[in-house]
Amino acid sequence: MINQERLVEEFVNLVKIDSPSGHEKEIAQYLKDKLTSLGLQVYEDDAGGKVGASAGNIIATLPGNSNGPMLLFSAHMDTVEPGRNINPVTKDGIIYSEGETVLGADDKAGIAAILEAVRIVKENDIKHGGLEVVFTIWEEGGLKGSKALDYSRIKSKMGYVLDSDGAPGTIITTAPAQNSIVAAIKGKAAHAGQCPENGINAIQVASRAISKMKLGRIDEETTANIGIIRGGKATNIVPDNTYLEGEARSLSLEKLEAQTNHMCQILQQEADAAGAEIEINVQKEYHTINLKEDDRVVKIAVEAARSLGLNPVLTSTGGGSDANIFNGKGIACANLGIAMNKVHTTEEFIKIDDLCKMALYVAEIIKTANK
Ligand SMILES: [Zn+2]
Repeated sequence: MINQERLVEEFVNLVKIDSPSGHEKEIAQYLKDKLTSLGLQVYEDDAGGKVGASAGNIIATLPGNSNGPMLLFSAHMDTVEPGRNINPVTKDGIIYSEGETVLGADDKAGIAAILEAVRIVKENDIKHGGLEVVFTIWEEGGLKGSKALDYSRIKSKMGYVLDSDGAPGTIITTAPAQNSIVAAIKGKAAHAGQCPENGINAIQVASRAISKMKLGRIDEETTANIGIIRGGKATNIVPDNTYLEGEARSLSLEKLEAQTNHMCQILQQEADAAGAEIEINVQKEYHTINLKEDDRVVKIAVEAARSLGLNPVLTSTGGGSDANIFNGKGIACANLGIAMNKVHTTEEFIKIDDLCKMALYVAEIIKTANK
């Protein structure tokens, strides 16, 4: 069913198009043409303007030829740096970059697998419900594209993001939600030698607060961290400004709320006690993925893996992906392992065999959903 040569050629074409986050115009145009020629209705949303990228998200629709559920398949178009002038090389059935850049299998292996699956479905007249293909911009460093996606265009209630490591058959069903916490403490400057009693030491306020915070692993579902602290100008000045950035993650939204409140309250309390001012900003970064074994989206993925002889593994991740955002928008969405390796490094690679398995797996999921 699969055309390996065509799939590899597509993958190589994709990684050769530069698409660092925010600069997706060229690859978006390439994919719009590709999807149109495959017979999909293609739409580019206005997310590019909203987030300052050169292109929007691509939403392409293939009407169903059967009554099966509508399915969404998604991958992101952007890559991390160094990711320009990528020159893929193949050795013993494995595709690498030449070594100066990433390969960009994250996430162009996902894109290539989805495109090949659509071709397989069409060529083999596989019965399918409606398909929505979503290629997002700016996933790396903030999930900006999926956050700004035009959801009024999306009809699917379930789907799959192809953007995880792990062998084909790996199904990410749980992932934490994350809040970011940014605090600016404003104390009062004074000469540290002549009149320290006139100052309010913003670094000390921050350090008191941090020392009282529960951080690290809070429980098996929850973590928290203060990752950035900046402040002060000179040893002879009582520092009047300190800036903190932290985060909390949890598989439970309630626990996330509780941990976030805990961190904010202690910051506020220590600022008040010292007579300092504080501005605290909490941003909800992304929602959880919290799928159950008997959710339809999971059952379909498991059954499809089995019928291909892949080993279905339900697992969790500590990170965030577009799948988190989609779940937050009410689309039950699993993240699938696409066997990309050493991502975000210049040693990134993918096996051609795995690339083929992924394309077949997507086609099999489409087939299974329609049973
Ligand atoms: Zn990715």
